[in-house]
Parts: sequence; structure tokens; C-alpha cells
Amino acid sequence: MRKILMIPGPIEYENNVLSAMANPTISHSSKEFMSTYREALQKTATIFGADASKDLPFIISGSGTLGMEASVVNFIGRESKVLVVNTGYFGDRFVDLFSRFTEKIEQINPPIGEAVEPAQVKEKLDTNEFDLMTVTHVDTSTGVKNNIKKIAEISRNSETLLVVDGVCSVGAEELDMRWGVDVAFTASQKALGAPPGLAVGVMGIRGLERMHKMKPLTFFSDLRKWEAVSRGILDSKGGYFGTPNVNLITALNVSLNNIMAEGLDARIKRHELMASSIRAGLAEMGLEIISKRSYANTVSAVYLPGGIDSQKFLSSSERNGVVFASGLIRDIASRYFRIGHMGSIGPSEVMITVGAIERALKENGYGVRPGSGLSAAQEILFRSG
Ligand code: PMP
Repeated sequence: MRKILMIPGPIEYENNVLSAMANPTISHSSKEFMSTYREALQKTATIFGADASKDLPFIISGSGTLGMEASVVNFIGRESKVLVVNTGYFGDRFVDLFSRFTEKIEQINPPIGEAVEPAQVKEKLDTNEFDLMTVTHVDTSTGVKNNIKKIAEISRNSETLLVVDGVCSVGAEELDMRWGVDVAFTASQKALGAPPGLAVGVMGIRGLERMHKMKPLTFFSDLRKWEAVSRGILDSKGGYFGTPNVNLITALNVSLNNIMAEGLDARIKRHELMASSIRAGLAEMGLEIISKRSYANTVSAVYLPGGIDSQKFLSSSERNGVVFASGLIRDIASRYFRIGHMGSIGPSEVMITVGAIERALKENGYGVRPGSGLSAAQEILFRSG
């Protein structure tokens, strides 16, 4: 039986992206590959609302975690003071990362399910103490979405650089460097629609100026090295630091073309509609999601009703044709599961997803009227048409 993957990355990929992976690996210094790499860098800049001739787009072999590291280590030394807006598992990861470099780490920790209040960020930045702050746009562990536009309005008038983890947002949520974001990054496997293995991001001018005055404490994630590569590729002169992942960058370029063909705005709207349709289905079945007021287009973290154990639920849903993800917040992990709804998701995936949840709940003894969630999800789709 076919199973569909509805986890928050990796996701189901388009056939043209998968076929691109299967081409013979050409020389990483060939003209042909250089032109693919250049296109991918240019489109990366566009998707982040950046300008490839001034800002620095980068595509580096590695996962989103490398993106996290590269986006911060270039600005910090042993004495730096940093602020982490921590809305879940990936906020904790930033704290862990920073702890390798500096002891001066402060956090804002909204309660589980809540986004940060921009006023709290302002209060911190008004102290003028922080070299850098990080915000997870959408925390994949909870589905909480932070208001980056508002936060950037505050940080850009301060000396604090704003680094945004857009791993669970870019390509499906609005995120624009022109708001005043200094560095933003994602990974290939989520809403960018290519298999895992690439850290993809952009550094703005303020970040570049700061970076050029520093020498990072790491080597592979030294973005000054990658700046030379990106500039060389963009100027058609070539550039090498570490051998690029030829097949994956080729596949990413195909996926970025798919995104451009649909149009980024249309793609974000499609994600918004599919997410709200799924949420309507969940609400009708009496299920509560963790995120209280800010809803992500990409992921929903859902409490299980009636004491159902998440591992049992996940096995049932898989038997029913859909693979979901388990919870990541340790204290509540057995009580919730996560649905990834990004990439090429459309009405069919919504129906398959909500239908599988109905059946898996029934298998676990929770009384749900057949088709109730489906009907509510369908209502939203009908209304949009
Ligand atoms: N940040 C966020 C918001 C993520 O969702 C993830 C991955 N789920 C990461 C960082 C880390 O990315 P990776 O697993 O690709 O290293």
C-alpha cells in the first residue's frame, strides 16, 4: 500500500525534482554546473527578498543545523552576548550551539504554544547589550510562528543583528530580508521542495559588514569562504571551497523553478489554505493544536484526545496510509503528534491526511463520526473555490 509522508520535512517531492537527482554527476567546475549553481543562488536571493548583487546568498552542503551554525558563528567571539527567542526545540538548539562559543546567552521563553511578544524583544534590545539575536520563524516542534516583520522593525534600529531560522517557513510563509533581517536560512528538505542535504540562506549588508571584521571560531561554516564561492559563481568566474553537492543543487534548482512558476505569493496562499483546511478538520474532530494564536502554514502540532499514546496513534495512522511525526517537546511528547503540510500539498493530500486521522483515532477508541473532519476540511476548500 502506498503511504504518504506528511511530516515537517523531508516531504513528498515533485517528480521533476527527483529525476534531477538521478542525472549523472557532472564536474562541479563545468560551465554547465556553474550556470545551474548561479541560477539556484539567484533564485534563493529572490525567495528571501534579497538582492544577489549586494546581499550574499549561500548554498552549502549540510543540513539546516549547519545553516544555524553558519548564520551565527561569523558574528560571535568568546565575549559576545546573544539573545535567543526560544519558542521550542529549535530555540533550545540555538542555546546549545551558542554555549560552545560564549557564556553570555540570554533567552526569552514564551510559554509553550505562544509566540514572542515584540514588546519583550524591544525591552531586551533597548539595553544595547546584545551583539546578535536569533528567532525561529516557525518552531517545527510546536507550530508556533513568530512575527518576524515586527521583530525586524525593532532590531534594525538597534546594534543587534537579527538571525532568522526559516527552516520551517521559507517557501511557504512570508519572510523578507527587506524587513531588516540580517541573516535568514533554511534547508532544502522542507518548503523549498528538494531532498535533505543543503543549507540555503542569505546574509544582508549589515551582516556582511560585521562579518568582515571578524574571524569565526569554526572553519567549514566560515561564510567568508562561502562568500568567495557565491560571488565567483554569480560572476561566472567559478569558486571552490568544499565540493558542492552537484546532484542536489541541480534538484534544488528544478524545485526553485517550480516555485517561481507557481509564484511565491500564490504558493504561500496555497499553503495557508491547505493549513486552514486541515485545522478546520482537526477542530471539528475535537482536537486541539499547540500553537495558540499564531498558525503556521507548514506544520501543525496536535494534542491527542482521550489519553491516546502518540506512538500508538502514529502506528495506526501509518497503517492507514499516512506517516506523521512524533512530538519533540520532551514533557508532552507522548501526548501530541505533528503534521507537516508543505511543498506540493493540495486538496487531495488534505483529504488523505484528515481521513487517516479519523481512522487512526477510531482505531484507538476515540469516538469520531466518520467524515466529520473531512467535511469541515472540505467546507474550507469549497469556500475558497
Ligand atoms: N530549525 C528548524 C526550525 C527545523 O525545523 C529544523 C529541522 N527540523 C532545523 C532547524 C534543523 O535542520 P536539520 O534537521 O536539517 O539539521
